[in-house]
Amino acid sequence: MVLKVSSCPHCNSKIFFRIELSDINTERFPAPVYIVHKNEICDKTSIFYVDSKLRISYSTKEKKAGAIKILNTIDKP
Ligand SMILES: [Zn+2]
Repeated sequence: MVLKVSSCPHCNSKIFFRIELSDINTERFPAPVYIVHKNEICDKTSIFYVDSKLRISYSTKEKKAGAIKILNTIDKP
């Protein structure tokens, strides 16, 4: 599990989530994963792309296929 700190593409707030290789399809990188910003105001889903070391390549609020898991953001660790 790797802790990631990023920003939500919808509301630009700082977000935290944990990810591991089993959360993504490792056949092709960057690999997408859905991230739900668990927040009373936002609560929207974005798609984050990560490389083979689980580093975030980019993120988008566009709906795209290909992710195999939906991860929720966590409260600030
Ligand atoms: Zn948000």
